[in-house]
Amino acid sequence: MRKKVIAGNWKMNLTLEEGVSLASEVVNMAKDELASDVTMVLCTPAIHMAAVSKLTAEVASVHVGAQNISEHESGAYTGDISADMALSTGAEFVIIGHSERREYHFETNAQLAARVELALAKGLTPLFCCGESLETREAGDHVSFVTKQLEESLYQLSAEQMEKVVIAYEPIWAIGTGVTASTEQAQEMHKSIREALASKFGAEVAEKISILYGGSMKPGNAPELLAQPDVDGGLIGGASLKSRDFIDIAKSY
Ligand code: PEP
Repeated sequence: MRKKVIAGNWKMNLTLEEGVSLASEVVNMAKDELASDVTMVLCTPAIHMAAVSKLTAEVASVHVGAQNISEHESGAYTGDISADMALSTGAEFVIIGHSERREYHFETNAQLAARVELALAKGLTPLFCCGESLETREAGDHVSFVTKQLEESLYQLSAEQMEKVVIAYEPIWAIGTGVTASTEQAQEMHKSIREALASKFGAEVAEKISILYGGSMKPGNAPELLAQPDVDGGLIGGASLKSRDFIDIAKSY
């Protein structure tokens, strides 16, 4: 059985006070309502992580994630966050390669490869994001584009390392737009990601890797997306800022 993972990406939203309030709502609802086989992750802004970790410590299946880490261990990298710093707040996961970071911070596949390796070496679980633009999809190149992202950031890993990575397929055209990939589009891409991983790392490894869908996932569309055989969870932006919606998504399996 693959791990079911529902991760919320708060992006650059909420003051510390607002974040703590949202996290305590989520934790209280999760205590009563979250199935024990669902792993929930709150990827908060960096300054919220320590305070939110104290709250999530109350529920075994709720965890904290960073939204990014540096590929450097430490040093003169003003504004960046190291893997050790994230770990010291209680974070256990880290988003790597979100399309907003790729676009606005020009993160490259090679840089992301280094971040994935560092995260794994430190014991953080990478939530590795991939996904194509609308232009790439309309040109029919979406599968080859995403496969190249995997090749250039993950194929240097050993099978043992790869098993620890969670993948999030996030078509850029569906992020924050209200447009969701159809269940067929999501399943097609998740299946081809799993096939690519199987050909590189072996079928047994590929079968164990959780592949999340991200892009305007909401309580209304989550059940049909999560029912797809290769969709193991969700990376949720907007709807993770509403405790009721986020918990309802996690209850949609
Ligand atoms: C995201 O930011 O990863 C995301 C999927 O956002 P949204 O759910 O708002 O589309």
